Amino acid sequence: MANGKINVLTCPACGSEYEHGYCYSCRCYCRKATRDKRRVTGDFTVVDWFSSRSSAGLIVEDTRSGQRYPLYMSDVFDFINGVQLTSRTLEETKKGSAYGWKVITKEGA
Ligand SMILES: [Zn+2]
Repeated sequence: MANGKINVLTCPACGSEYEHGYCYSCRCYCRKATRDKRRVTGDFTVVDWFSSRSSAGLIVEDTRSGQRYPLYMSDVFDFINGVQLTSRTLEETKKGSAYGWKVITKEGA
């Protein structure tokens, strides 16, 4: 599998992985390491969203473990592309200077 590996930053002392490259427990800088990509299977609930200058997406939570995973919007879109919002009402909305639409939920209708 050519795509089955991922580069991560790993603490050389304790082996923990830190995205930002520093282990505060051992007070040392992490080194780049390559390992197999992990996979998790389960039931996930959308619980939050995130947005930064470089990316945005959804936070999903594994209903059993409570572990949360950020899903990038570009990948979420691949998953939900073609999903139909049937018999829904959309209403115009304005966020700052931008105009858009929102889905009206039953409570708000
Ligand atoms: Zn460490």
